[in-house]
Amino acid sequence: MVRKIALEEHFLSPGLVDYWRPTMTEVAPQVVDTLYRRLTDFADERLGIMDKAGIEKAVLSVSGPGVQAERDAALATKRAAEANDFLAGVIARQPKRYAGFAHVALQDATGAARELERCVRELGFKGAMIHGLAEGHFIDDKRYWPIFARAEALDVPIYLHPSMPHPGVIDAYYKEYAKDFPILLRAAWGYTVETATLAIRLVLSGLFEQHRTKFILGHLGEGLPFLLWRINSGLARPGQKPVQFRDIFSAHFSITTSGFFSDPALLLCVQEMGIDRILFAVDYPFEANAPGPAWLARVPLCDEDKAKIASGNAKRLLRM
Ligand code: MN
Repeated sequence: MVRKIALEEHFLSPGLVDYWRPTMTEVAPQVVDTLYRRLTDFADERLGIMDKAGIEKAVLSVSGPGVQAERDAALATKRAAEANDFLAGVIARQPKRYAGFAHVALQDATGAARELERCVRELGFKGAMIHGLAEGHFIDDKRYWPIFARAEALDVPIYLHPSMPHPGVIDAYYKEYAKDFPILLRAAWGYTVETATLAIRLVLSGLFEQHRTKFILGHLGEGLPFLLWRINSGLARPGQKPVQFRDIFSAHFSITTSGFFSDPALLLCVQEMGIDRILFAVDYPFEANAPGPAWLARVPLCDEDKAKIASGNAKRLLRM
């Protein structure tokens, strides 16, 4: 079996449980206890199913929303640092099996940049993960650029993870269906729209004229590889500020397979993004660990390409 590094594998530390539980309870109360057990386990259960799936190393990240749901900025900053210290302890006990992405409090962007640097330089983390909107704002806003500048300086990527859409969007787009299909505004569709919109805004913001920050999108790029040609073509019409959308996106974004194990979708991504931009991830424990690796083993790509997705690209991007 090909040995894999998995990039979007979640955990919870004690200080973050109260942000997580209410949102999960709203989606599927019957699985909250099982998910909680899996998110807080770093021993036999998690390692055993990683072994069975041929996952050599999991890059762990907080299960959202984390401190992005905290109103008190000082408390958010404190709890983010505690979560990072907790994760550093987990990694120190199993350094061959776990690595980490930093959790940062966006309520204080300068502090978040400092915390990212601490996590990378002192704790050996591989980058940061950000969960959706920050206090209702898309993070292409210039107030958050210090974080991106620091990530560039440290040469680590930022993983853009979905979170809840803006309340106004939920109201306008989803409310009639939210009760019967609570996952609609989340993993089934809403997360995708929200995160793809953020990535588009980052490209249009001009960030990449100043910084060479690397970003990662899960879920096979949140639909964007399929749409790149169309977006690029639209933005090339008269009346727009000139922007080479497709080139900028392709130069700064990588994507993972988290929770999206489809042959046709993957092959499209290979054609649009190139094999070097696609990295393996499961999205444990929201996805089971077994199906993703079983799928990767049989996708219609050569062994060399599969090895790049399985771990080669992660080793390069995360310098592992
Ligand atoms: Mn996830």
